[in-house]
Amino acid sequence: MARRGANQPSVGGYNEAVVLDQIRRSHGHSRVELADTTGLSAQTVSNIVQRLLDAGIVEEAGRTSSGRGKPRTTLRLVGSSRYAVGVHLDPGLITVVVLSIDGEVIARHARATPAAQAPADTTAVLIQDIEMVLAGSGIDRTRIVGLGVAAPGPIDIQRGIVLDPPNLAGWDRVPLRDAIADATGLTVMLEKDVTAAAVAEKWIAAPGGAQNFAFLYLGTGLGVGLVIGDEVVRGGSGNAGEIGHIVVDPDGLPCGCGLRGCIAVSCAPLPLIEEAERRGVIAAERSGDDPTEVDAALTRLVHLADGGDEAAEKLLRECSEQVARALAVVSNLLDVDRIVMGGPLWDRIGETLMDTVPTRLDELRVARGVHPVTVSDTALGSDVGAIGAACLILDEALTPRPTSLLVPTA
Ligand SMILES: [Zn+2]
Repeated sequence: MARRGANQPSVGGYNEAVVLDQIRRSHGHSRVELADTTGLSAQTVSNIVQRLLDAGIVEEAGRTSSGRGKPRTTLRLVGSSRYAVGVHLDPGLITVVVLSIDGEVIARHARATPAAQAPADTTAVLIQDIEMVLAGSGIDRTRIVGLGVAAPGPIDIQRGIVLDPPNLAGWDRVPLRDAIADATGLTVMLEKDVTAAAVAEKWIAAPGGAQNFAFLYLGTGLGVGLVIGDEVVRGGSGNAGEIGHIVVDPDGLPCGCGLRGCIAVSCAPLPLIEEAERRGVIAAERSGDDPTEVDAALTRLVHLADGGDEAAEKLLRECSEQVARALAVVSNLLDVDRIVMGGPLWDRIGETLMDTVPTRLDELRVARGVHPVTVSDTALGSDVGAIGAACLILDEALTPRPTSLLVPTA
């Protein structure tokens, strides 16, 4: 049924979505090839393509000759025909991007998330940044399909509410989706940040083929976004992927959940820094726990390790081992083909993780004799959450899915 009926920024019916999706993925199919790959009749494809040409969403890109028959006209998306806005609210960083329909970032802005502010004030900052980026981009607003917001979980995806994320102090049931929709007049969708990152990876970084992967997002907290059988997995309430309480060290520190050694208290930035301070690896210079200060301390720890400090290296290696253990649980449960890692921490701890995780994961994986799992970083860098939030809108507008068949479309 219509999971987010009022929210669907659909640009056409199911068959149009099928054709658009194929044009996007193929980078240059002709009408004949589109009919072959979609199973639609030549006449249906021709009618749909004409409507898309008239609407300016696709254009004729050139001619190809395959040796037999007359040359075929290839089709491609018109990047400047439609746009989506993506916003990522991370406890440490607010990022806004504008994405064209063919997946190019055409405008971007990022700033540190203001510390210790009321949710209403942070929301006002978000809206101000959105308006600034849109004004700066010079885009005709009628060409914006919608705006996606990636926020830390848990969220209430139906009501567009950010519940009470552990790393966003003072946030408790904040109706962020409607606040941004009211202020901007745009269609807004809310998604968990890790799921948004997986959508970005599915859409932009690796668009071909059926996909089975987990995206490990490394930010103020850790989580995974999931794409299984080429579908984004959200779970019953949009909160799938909470790996924080996978136990990676049975003798580790007590966690708020009642267990010991959950990855949330072992390897996220704050516990990592606290452990580094306890061991005397870095000096306890912080005045508080706000994400900006924790981030700066983490950078100091990584610099020490890079400089050959053995205690710092050891701590980061232990963290990598714990990440590998958590990813082994995810891999064994879901039998993914790929693990993709990224997020704001990646630029600093990525190298250490890549030294350890692929090998350890293979030792711990049950299906290691059946198929390999590739481990890589995302090509989208630290903007992956914001890009994913924008892709969410494009994904909803352009991707055909069986549930769309049950929804009356224009
Ligand atoms: Zn726990």
